[in-house]
Amino acid sequence: MSRLHLPLRPLWLCRACAAPWPCATARLTLVQEYAHDRVALLVYLGGLLHDAAGQLHTLNPHDAPEAAQLFDRFLGWARIRRSHADSPQHPMSEAGATALAYEGQLDTADGVGTELRDHW
Ligand SMILES: [Zn+2]
Repeated sequence: MSRLHLPLRPLWLCRACAAPWPCATARLTLVQEYAHDRVALLVYLGGLLHDAAGQLHTLNPHDAPEAAQLFDRFLGWARIRRSHADSPQHPMSEAGATALAYEGQLDTADGVGTELRDHW
């Protein structure tokens, strides 16, 4: 059983792999846990973003990550992505389509691919 990829506060590094949290594994786990409620995931991440911004700034007032960087790190990757194939007439299929779109875009999604290359 591998260790859970949870944030180590107040550093906001992954307890399992030491990458800036949420690491790629944490993101995948969150997407799976919130597969049927992406809005709840965004609310949850928004709360964590608020905590992280405050704690990181307290730790390092002069060299804390930019707000935009933190936003992308915590929320940018989880935003609901609408592919051109999505049809507004079929809202029930949106969650599945979004999950598929997310998996397909994992390597090129904002920041995720870059982070993977940086850490591997
Ligand atoms: Zn991790």
